[in-house]
Amino acid sequence: MAKRDYYEILGVAKTASDEEIKKAYRKLAIKYHPDKNPDDKTAEEKFKEAAEAYEVLSNNEKRQRYNQFGHAGVGGASGGGGYGGGGMNMDDIFSQFGDIFGGAFGFGGGGGNRGGGRRMNRGSNLRVKVKLNLKEIANGAEKKIKVNKYVGCKTCSGSGAKNGQYDTCKQCNGSGVVTRVQQTILGAMQTQTTCNVCSGEGRIVRDKCNTCHGDGIVREEEIITMNIPAGVAEGMQLSMQGKGNAAPRGGINGDLLIVIEEEDHADLKREGNHLIYSLNISFPDAAMGTSVEIPTIDAKAKIKIDPGTQSGKVLRLKGKGLPDINAYGRGDLLVEISVYTPTNLSSEEKKILEGFKKSKNFQPNPNKKEKGFFERMKDYFE
Ligand SMILES: [Zn+2]
Ligand SMILES: [Zn+2]
Repeated sequence: MAKRDYYEILGVAKTASDEEIKKAYRKLAIKYHPDKNPDDKTAEEKFKEAAEAYEVLSNNEKRQRYNQFGHAGVGGASGGGGYGGGGMNMDDIFSQFGDIFGGAFGFGGGGGNRGGGRRMNRGSNLRVKVKLNLKEIANGAEKKIKVNKYVGCKTCSGSGAKNGQYDTCKQCNGSGVVTRVQQTILGAMQTQTTCNVCSGEGRIVRDKCNTCHGDGIVREEEIITMNIPAGVAEGMQLSMQGKGNAAPRGGINGDLLIVIEEEDHADLKREGNHLIYSLNISFPDAAMGTSVEIPTIDAKAKIKIDPGTQSGKVLRLKGKGLPDINAYGRGDLLVEISVYTPTNLSSEEKKILEGFKKSKNFQPNPNKKEKGFFERMKDYFE
């Protein structure tokens, strides 16, 4: 089967600009990305085909040679059995993505080990969300979660082979890579690619295990126990190495990524490691002082309100906030006081208050005013 024309693969005209080529390739790379098309051979081939076309057409020199000499000009095989000659391996394709997607490529990597020789399979990462309330965040928590993931096949101990027997791959003689030297108009050119017969493993299962059909992995539900440290916050991501999907035929496990979700507390608002509680007190209590119970993370706490407390005053309960995730101490609990002004007064109450209207003690005193909100916060968080 002859190779397809690179312009045709990307669906662009021969006169296409660099930007048009890049755009066309980006679209195909996303469409046929292996993470989006697991176990789809056709998609994988299209993915590789597009990468190869882009590899050539994005390079001015190569593009010129290709325009002049066709596939032979850029070292690609122009014939032979099936697709695959001169193709790129996955690692090369992924390493090209930084350029194409500006580092913002959202798919999981996990393209396997780079470097010469045999390729070690790597399982993909698993991502789970875990919801925690403030108390759990303050104290740390042990959470159990059920995940459906790939684990090593027990029948064949993850080897994929009955009796654990393999044959050395004949195509690459066990090296996992195929080196081709081609005579082109421009001289001998050497290309090294991952062996497509053994996918770079260098060996082939002799008799496939009946349970896993040679993959060495099967899907299973597993209860994973995770210890969440104290002080985590919404959106934080923790990872448990090796707790993700198992890799085919005894490779390296992927990781389990835990994304933290924080439940809102009914009364306490979080601000970094500090907690904020809004306390509303009555005017008589503010004027004469009292003691009130307020919620904290663990239990209730009693605090004293001094006589003459102004609206806007902030009481600070040191160390009653959340622990720092890096163990740099603990935040505080800030109690912000507001004085409740009564509405719907009875005529009798009105009469009593009228009596105070003229009293000197009831006149606002700017010297006793609490700082405004922003000024206070600046003080505190600086
Ligand atoms: Zn091979
Ligand atoms: Zn098996």
